[in-house]
Amino acid sequence: MICNLNCVACPLAYLCIPLAIGAFIALKRYRGGLQKKRLASQLSFLLISNAAFVFGATGLIYTYFYCWESPYALMACPIGVLEHAFADRSWYLLVYLAGLIGFACIIFGRAACGWACPIGFLQDLTKGRRIKSKLDSKMRPLKYAILLAIPPVCYLTEKLAYTDICPIGGLTATLPYLAMEPNGYTFTVFFIPKMINVVGFFILIFLMTRGWCRHLCPVGAMMAQFNKISLLQLKYYEEKCIKCFKCAAVCPMQINMPYDNRSGECIRCGKCIDICPTNALAFEFRW
Ligand code: SF4
Ligand code: SF4
Repeated sequence: MICNLNCVACPLAYLCIPLAIGAFIALKRYRGGLQKKRLASQLSFLLISNAAFVFGATGLIYTYFYCWESPYALMACPIGVLEHAFADRSWYLLVYLAGLIGFACIIFGRAACGWACPIGFLQDLTKGRRIKSKLDSKMRPLKYAILLAIPPVCYLTEKLAYTDICPIGGLTATLPYLAMEPNGYTFTVFFIPKMINVVGFFILIFLMTRGWCRHLCPVGAMMAQFNKISLLQLKYYEEKCIKCFKCAAVCPMQINMPYDNRSGECIRCGKCIDICPTNALAFEFRW
């Protein structure tokens, strides 16, 4: 497809415009060697996520959060696969899901949140505020509760109960569809709750850095389990550390750095590595 700069009529405008704005904002914000590489990776994965217009839908699973109902989605969301497994009693999907997520996370831990997920990228651009409160710590397990609730609810209702109200689906599938085919969209009773959740999602990510990843993302909850055992580790060399705590100050997940370097909350963004003045932190593969 050749660009004729007629964005109003172009179905790909919902992808190109955010890409261009994102790249412009990010170029100013991503400082440091790892951050430049991370920006290139995030832009590439955003493009790949919407590449069905080139490759067609593949049926593979994303290792990050992006709605499979999106107009040009190439692959399936892990939560959508989990829902289908329980709602349709298609148990073989669980093997497929566990194999793919397990394989990626055994190698990289939760790095997909920091390097691949388009929703993570969006949160890096909105750059919420750093909030440290007791409520923040108490709310972090909420994402695990959501993940654990999805299988029984889908099994009992025989519906894709999470997709019905998912704000990421609302943002990346429902709204683009509405923009592209305003007369072809079928409204259901879930439309208003889903849009309320989209608004709530934006409030959350403007309120705090990586607010969605910290508190609500069930895909992040799925992958967090692997951080302690993954091959890729964030190593801390205490003998080099001068306790300046610059690493803690830049961490978007507000992890107790440098001591909690194996936390399940770490999205492997590498900001702490880029800022550390003594190279006391590093990504390393252990074999
Ligand atoms: S930024 Fe580096 S030197 Fe400073 S506290 Fe963190 S690990 Fe230590
Ligand atoms: S600990 Fe470092 S790599 Fe992990 S989320 Fe925080 S800044 Fe990113």
